[in-house]
Amino acid sequence: MTSAHSGAARGKPSLQFFVDENLLGLVKRLRMMGIDSSTLPGAADDAVLEVAIEENRIILTKDRKFFERIPAGRGYFVKADDAKDQLLEVLEQFPLQDYDEALSRCFQCNTPIQAIDKAQVKERVDAKTYSLYEQFYECPTCLRIYWEGSHFDKMVKEVEKVRRDLSK
Ligand SMILES: [Zn+2]
Repeated sequence: MTSAHSGAARGKPSLQFFVDENLLGLVKRLRMMGIDSSTLPGAADDAVLEVAIEENRIILTKDRKFFERIPAGRGYFVKADDAKDQLLEVLEQFPLQDYDEALSRCFQCNTPIQAIDKAQVKERVDAKTYSLYEQFYECPTCLRIYWEGSHFDKMVKEVEKVRRDLSK
């Protein structure tokens, strides 16, 4: 995993999304690509609108009625049904960056993750994981621990596939 720098800090235009709760497979994939994507499952439409506009986020939704309430230019109606197709659809619609921040964001809560000393995770991961890996990362918000295990390799391949699909 690369260290978590924010795109804005490097002077890149950053695009942030607010993902409606009917697209939770998409929100994890956007985070996988390193894109700042928040969501509020269970929140009322009015609350979603208010938060998204205040945080200057583009709202992604699959709810036609809700989409019609979003001010022009502030939302996008997602057409694809499968989460992988939805990711490609959104990234084609908003071609924004080189995705060099892929795999640097917590899947669970969207916070950029940080490298953490191995000693600090000893009590927090199972013994086998602890002995197999040297580099660990922590989400400073939800405290979830990440490491570059088999799941990570799968994610790297998925990110590479998305990059290839987008450059076709
Ligand atoms: Zn987290």
